[in-house]
Amino acid sequence: MAGLIRRDEIEEVRNRTRIEDIVGQHVTLKSAGAGSLKGLCPFHDERTPSFHVRPQLGFWHCFGCGEGGDAINFVQRIDHLDFTEAVEYLAQKAGVTLTYESGGQRRRPEEPGRRQRLLEAHRVAEEYYRSQLDSPEAASARAFLQERNFDQRAAEHFGVGYSQGSWDSLTRHLRGRGFTDQELTTAGLSVQGNRGLYDRFRNRLMWPIRDLTGATVGFGARKLDDDPNSPKYLNTPETPIYKKSQVLYGIDLAKRDIVRGRKVVIVEGYTDVMAAHLAGETTAVATCGTAFGSEHVQLVRRLLGDGADPAAGVVLSTGRAHGGEIIFTFDGDEAGKSAARKVYVEDQKFAAQTFVAIEPHGWDPCDLRMQRGDRAVVQLIDSRVPLFEFVLRSVLAQVDLNTAEGRVAAVRAGAPILAGIKDVALRQEYARQFAGWVGVEVSRVLGTLRNSGRPRRAVEAVAAHTNDPVIRMERQALEALLQRPLDVVGSGFELLGEQSYTLPVHRAVHVSIVAAGGLDRFLDLLAEAEESAGVGDQSVAQATRKWNQEIGQGAAPQVAEVVRQLTVAPLPQDQMAGLRDYAIGAVRALVRMELTRQVADLRMALQRLDPNAEEYTDVFTQLMTLDARRREYAEQDS
Ligand SMILES: [Zn+2]
Repeated sequence: MAGLIRRDEIEEVRNRTRIEDIVGQHVTLKSAGAGSLKGLCPFHDERTPSFHVRPQLGFWHCFGCGEGGDAINFVQRIDHLDFTEAVEYLAQKAGVTLTYESGGQRRRPEEPGRRQRLLEAHRVAEEYYRSQLDSPEAASARAFLQERNFDQRAAEHFGVGYSQGSWDSLTRHLRGRGFTDQELTTAGLSVQGNRGLYDRFRNRLMWPIRDLTGATVGFGARKLDDDPNSPKYLNTPETPIYKKSQVLYGIDLAKRDIVRGRKVVIVEGYTDVMAAHLAGETTAVATCGTAFGSEHVQLVRRLLGDGADPAAGVVLSTGRAHGGEIIFTFDGDEAGKSAARKVYVEDQKFAAQTFVAIEPHGWDPCDLRMQRGDRAVVQLIDSRVPLFEFVLRSVLAQVDLNTAEGRVAAVRAGAPILAGIKDVALRQEYARQFAGWVGVEVSRVLGTLRNSGRPRRAVEAVAAHTNDPVIRMERQALEALLQRPLDVVGSGFELLGEQSYTLPVHRAVHVSIVAAGGLDRFLDLLAEAEESAGVGDQSVAQATRKWNQEIGQGAAPQVAEVVRQLTVAPLPQDQMAGLRDYAIGAVRALVRMELTRQVADLRMALQRLDPNAEEYTDVFTQLMTLDARRREYAEQDS
């Protein structure tokens, strides 16, 4: 469990934050009657303002899209931060010093003060590099940009700069601004040599790499001389604030449009990001000296609005969520094929949203813009095909479809790829299309598919009902509750109601548990047992048994049967300590989902109300209280 910011300090941050100032950085607000401001919603497209802020209450709400919350929630949404990050950001603005609950570990290892220092060093370094781009020494840097059709405005937009050829000009500059040698090496800006510190980046074109909030956390640098011993591209090494597996170049400029357009374009280099943005593809980002990996997937998903809330994610997965488009550009067929296969293998859910755009001449977006102009870059992105289609078609390219042997080979080669598509509806759709491309009956493809598919699949299909993730979650929570009542005291069972379950029999079990006195009754039984048998596992087991019996006795026969099944179902952890965590986790998952649902219901109710109606403020306050409770509850898990 991560260290928690103390609750009273979160409250202080809330109280000291002027929500109208925080929102005002992103939205122009006008008076909308007593105690209320309004503006255009930053979370959905609109022409007439339906985004309201109530400074006295410290809340905001949009009647267009139904979103709402407090200042912390607003910063989370607009800057795509998690709860802790948002509180830290606001605390810094409001001048509140945060401490953390003792015993907990902070999610980031460094102290907040050090992070601020490293960010500040990067801010000063970026400013310095940028100022050097005009110097006489930087002629080769300017020529590099010019050759690629990047003018001065483009350089400024992306914050491009130049690092001098001398050994320690940045190091001296930063020392002069009060940074210690320790801070400069930790930041990755300077390197410790035999004769002292020297600059990591020398005689290079410099791109600032920023995080989601727009803070510079590292640099990408391209060499400008012909030294065969130095690498063409050099990046900031891993530091407390720079993790290459988690950064995407251009994300600060692209994030708003990624969210709006539910689309992100992945290109390969710094100049490609620049070229794409200038051509009008403002959702382009690139990895920095590493392949696109699972943490990048996570980051992109957060922006595309898929799976941001773990409980909501479960609900969505049953309703077949569509998470937006991720488009990879590749220069050339071969590079594309090998890269695409990797994406395909690594993450199925991601693969279903992934598209591939191949430039047939082998040009990257920067080349393409130089050769053919802006429109060609946009056309390249538009020419994207779904990843599944791309991989299937690359199979066809290897056989001769004019011969019977070729068609048989194609069906055989395509079957395992199709079998690997886990979404059944999608798999069948592609099987149908693939049959068409090959020129055979779809039944032949399906026949081969059946034979190459894993035998487990049939079992999975039969058990589909019990594999519904929501129903499984309900069942696991009830099993945990009935078998480990002592462990789950304090996990929020009281927040659940009959309506928290989708399966009628689960509802009935819940009602029986409540009717038998709930966890309070269990604690009474435990006290009785301890009086006679003493404190220990034996008493816990005895009280649990008795409690289960009482619940079963009060229930209808079929429900009692289910209660019995739930009390004997094996829990998936075999060690005692793991079992406790499992039980707590199972109950909490269901509570989280319930709170999410209640918030959604209230949002709907609010949307139907006139903002000037008296009832509005009541429901609004109710919603905010509940939403705050939900987020605090979720925060305890992270
Ligand atoms: Zn809105």
